[in-house]
This record gives sequence, C-alpha cells and structure tokens, in this order.
Amino acid sequence: MKTLDPQDPQAMRTLAHRMVDDMFDFLETVNDRPVWRKPPSTAIEAIREPLPRESTSPEAVYAQFREHILPYAKGNISPRFFSWVEGNGTFMGMMADMLASGMNPNVTIGDHMAMYVDQQVIEWCRQMMGMPESTSGMLVSGGSLANITAMTVARNHLLPHVRARGMQAGDRVPVVYCSSETHNCMVKAIEVLGIGSEQLRMIPVDADYRMDLQALERQLEADKQAGLQPICIVGNAGTVNTGAIDPLEDLLRIARREQMWFHVDGAFGAVAGITEYAADALAPLREADSLAFDLHKWLYVNYEVGCVLIRDREIHRKAFVMEAAYLTKHERGLPSGPETYSHYGLELSRGFKALKIWMSLKEHGLDRYREIVARNIAQARYLADLIEQHPKLELLAPVTLNIVCFRYRFDLQSPEANLTLEQLNERNRELLMQLHESGEAVPSYTVLQGRYGIRVNITNHRTRYEDLNRMINAILVIGDR
Ligand SMILES: *Cc1c(COP(=O)(O)O)cnc(C)c1O
Repeated sequence: MKTLDPQDPQAMRTLAHRMVDDMFDFLETVNDRPVWRKPPSTAIEAIREPLPRESTSPEAVYAQFREHILPYAKGNISPRFFSWVEGNGTFMGMMADMLASGMNPNVTIGDHMAMYVDQQVIEWCRQMMGMPESTSGMLVSGGSLANITAMTVARNHLLPHVRARGMQAGDRVPVVYCSSETHNCMVKAIEVLGIGSEQLRMIPVDADYRMDLQALERQLEADKQAGLQPICIVGNAGTVNTGAIDPLEDLLRIARREQMWFHVDGAFGAVAGITEYAADALAPLREADSLAFDLHKWLYVNYEVGCVLIRDREIHRKAFVMEAAYLTKHERGLPSGPETYSHYGLELSRGFKALKIWMSLKEHGLDRYREIVARNIAQARYLADLIEQHPKLELLAPVTLNIVCFRYRFDLQSPEANLTLEQLNERNRELLMQLHESGEAVPSYTVLQGRYGIRVNITNHRTRYEDLNRMINAILVIGDR
C-alpha cells in the first residue's frame, strides 16, 4: 500500500541526520559568509520545473535544496543583518519546529498537550507584558494579523451591531486615530474591517516622530462636531521608521476620557519594556485594551509567530464566538480540554508554533533576553554616537530604541556640485545597494522628511559591536569612492 512515508526508513533517517548536521554547520558558519548574495539565474532556473509527476529520491530532492536554495538565504540570520525589523531565530527554535512538525497537531481544539503549551505561552506573554490576569490572547502569524485581530475585537465591542447587521447598520461613521508613522498593516486592518482608510486619522507627529497630542485633540473635537463616532486610538510602541514611542500615557488618558478603545502596536518595541531603557515609557501598555507584538522580531523566535493580547477575555470571545455542531466541547474524549481557539480569532487550523517559544523561553530564561534586548538598544546608541562623531555622516532621527537612520554627507564631499535633495537621495540609495552587493552588511532604508536614509534596525542577538564598526567602515569606503 502506498503512503507518503519513506520507502526506505533507514535511508531517510540517515538523510535526516545529515540535514541536522548541515543546518548546524550553516548556522555555525554564518559569520564567514556574505550577509546576502543575489540568487544567480542558474538557481532560479533550476527550480523552475513543471509540476513533477514522477517521484524523485529524497537524497536528490535534498541535494537540490543544498545546491540552489540554502546558499542564497535572505541573510537575516547574520550578525550584520539590519534590514526592516527581522529576527535571527535560534538553534532551539529550529529544532522545536522540527519537533512540532513531527507531532503535527492542529492546535485549534481538543484535549492534547499542544493546547496546554499554547495556553502557557500566552500566559507567559501576558506576564512579560505586565497585563492583568483577565487578559486572553492568541498566537498568530505575526504583527499584521495580531493588529487585525485586536482591531476586530475593538470594532465588534464598540459597534455591537456589526457582527450581525454589518457596518452599514450603524447610524454614525466610526473613526480610528493613529500617528502618521503607524505601520501600514493598520491601514490594511481598517480597510479589511470595513471602517475605510478615510476614517483612519493619521495624526501628524512632532520632531521626535511621536503623535502630536494637540493635533489629536483638535481632530477628535472636529470629528465629534461632525457627528462621527471616535472608537479607537492606536498608540505605537516603536514605530517602524525610527523606533519612536508615542506618548502612551496621554493616549491612554484621552481614550479613557472619550470611552474609546486603546490599542498598542508594539510589534517589535513592546519587548523593550523588559529592559530598564524603556520600562517607564512602555508602562502604560499594561493598561491597554489590546496589544499586538511579535515574537519573531525582538524575541528572536524563528518565523513565524506574533501575539495579540486582549485585556478582557469576555470581550475578546464575544468578538469571534460562533457555535458549530462539529466544534462543541465534550465532557470526555478528545473534544474535551480547552475551548477552541476559533472562538478567539480568525483562524481555525493552527500549527504548533507555541513549542518553539516554550522551549526558547525555558532554554534562555527572561533574564538573558533582557540582557540581549538591552544590548541591542545600547548598540543602537553606540552606532548613533559613531555617526554623530563622524563629519561625513548625519543622523536623521533621534534614537529611542534600536533603530538608527542616517545618511552619508555627499554634499560635504563635493560642495562645489551643489547637490539637490534628489541627488543626495539617489547617491545614498546607490551607496546602500553597493553595500548590499558587497555582502558586508545589510541595513535597509527609509525616507524621513523627504530625505532618503540608511536605516539600521538591530533586533539581532548575534550582533557584536565590531559588526557595527565593520558596517560603518564599509559605508565610508563606498561613500568616499
Ligand atoms: C513588523 C511590524 C508590523 C507587522 O508585523 P508582521 O509580523 O511583519 O506582520 C506592524 N507594526 C510594526 C510597528 C512593525 O514593525
């Protein structure tokens, strides 16, 4: 009888051991390779095959992976990867994914241990973020889904007619407030929820890229005057461009005063609350009605996993609960055990992503995370100092957490050329591309007040101070050239 199990179990076992050894080698030698290499057309061509009809031996399939896929990784496991906001993963996380995949439970319902591990991980997340015991939560694919889930709860709570009768049944137009620096997944959430991005007020920011409170108050007043219904304020705990933290205490106060929902997008930044650097600025998120944050960013857990926490379990449940004969809980047997997760979110089938978090948090302990997250912040400050001290480099935004934006002063290099802003931007962009192609370091980019900048994000447990020196040296060499 044909199944998909190995034809030759012993050969598969041998191959599996080789895979583990190869991946250990790959991780252990990460520092010896360029951070990123452009996938050659030979590799891309090699995998562009028609849908395979015949079988290929596991050894041959794996050989293709080793030759064409593995060498051209994204690079985010490298100590000199600083692009976007991406984590590195860990050895334990990698192995936990293998174990979870071997058990392969669908963690949505039933009396089995994966459900309890998932619950325990949510409980640890709650404790880490300092939210009250009434809090419930859900592991999801990432910050985007965590934000959408939280905004769904906010909408369904503030607009109780929506679940049955839809957005069109409301007599007032709902409005949501956030800063202009808010991640675009919030715009997506507002669009998906039928609130409409025109009803997302992107309030201007101050010189530190934090929401301008007076502008918020003015907009709120105008919207109320116009008969609209303010339902939610979204605060940023770490904006994606510069790492700014909105004035959360004030946003919380205004939300309470106006009986609005207070949500915090702490995709990466919320984690900084475990360190002394940001404990005070982030303390108000303990009072938030909902919080979205990622484990695959600044907790370095392997992709992919984010978390949404909702302050009130009942409100959370009411947003999604739906009875179905095939999902009812029984007194005994497999359908006993915890309530189905489908009552708390958008997904039904879910993988066992909790295991890599459970194993990693136990392996390292919170104190070690605290130390490494704090080191990333100290490294960002060190980098900012290097930049400020160097006449050819210019810092483009204040450094709050782990993100440093700067540019090379091509205007000083050739003052007679009278470079326009566009030319300056173009040269910095070219510099960044050459840096990536050199494989020395991989920061990303953003545009701040029209100025194109190199953007360094440090959510990297492997980065050493010397990696930052090495990046700056490479940038100076390319810039001077
Ligand atoms: C990364 C990020 C998101 C989106 O999270 P994903 O895990 O990529 O879906 C949302 N908000 C901020 C501030 C982020 O940095």
